Amino acid sequence: MRLHVLDCGAMSCDLTWLLLKPGRSIRPRAEKDRPVEWYPCTTHAVLVETAEGTLLWDTSCPRDWETRWVPTGLQEFFPYDQVTEEQYLDVQLGRLGVRPEDLDYVVLSHLHFDHAGNARMFASTGARLVCNDKEKEFAFGFPGAYSGAHLKADYEGLEFETVSGDTELLPGVTLIEAPGHTPGTMAMRVDLPESGTMIFTSDAVYMGDSYGPPATPAAIVNDLAAWYASVEKIRTIAERGDATVIFGHDAEQLWSMRRAPDGFYQ
Ligand SMILES: [Zn+2]
Repeated sequence: MRLHVLDCGAMSCDLTWLLLKPGRSIRPRAEKDRPVEWYPCTTHAVLVETAEGTLLWDTSCPRDWETRWVPTGLQEFFPYDQVTEEQYLDVQLGRLGVRPEDLDYVVLSHLHFDHAGNARMFASTGARLVCNDKEKEFAFGFPGAYSGAHLKADYEGLEFETVSGDTELLPGVTLIEAPGHTPGTMAMRVDLPESGTMIFTSDAVYMGDSYGPPATPAAIVNDLAAWYASVEKIRTIAERGDATVIFGHDAEQLWSMRRAPDGFYQ
């Protein structure tokens, strides 16, 4: 079993989107003239190779974000402008010798445009596209082209298989239902023989600062009560399994990890 962390670069954004924290993103009166803090909102995917199949967790942002995201207006707030050619998802996979048709599963933690942005790359490769049932219901159910960071152009017309609750998709790879950020956000638990248990939270928890304890919420939350409950669910699972918790958009953490193609976990 091998797990590769694919560093797909970063969007840039006002930290306030990610962390509603007095004293950090939210200023006291003594600092009211200080400019807002812009943060490298890193984006990653995870490739898990097992004896039973190969899985990709999330697909990061698309190369054409600057035009594709125009309907949402969010290209001005989350420009995907800290990325090198070799960090785009297709190149990251290629550097590991993996072609889109080599994947058995492509699992989307949720369908926001910075996670499902390259889902179409796997439209006719034979890979099974998987998301949570509540996520699919929401993402296909709203009227119009977009809702927040859900952009139908990313996923409309694709066939998704859905999971509900906590689901072991491959031996040692479990999808954890963690709603709140969106109606069907999931985290992924991977039990590795040498590295131990790793939990990838995606946007159920943006950063170490969000995790706490106590948990600190963010600007984009579909259901705040569900969000808090999901963070504590993840914390309980992590503590029981002595897991390493990897957050969705934590730059310092991502940059401290073993990253493809040079390093991996097993
Ligand atoms: Zn999201």
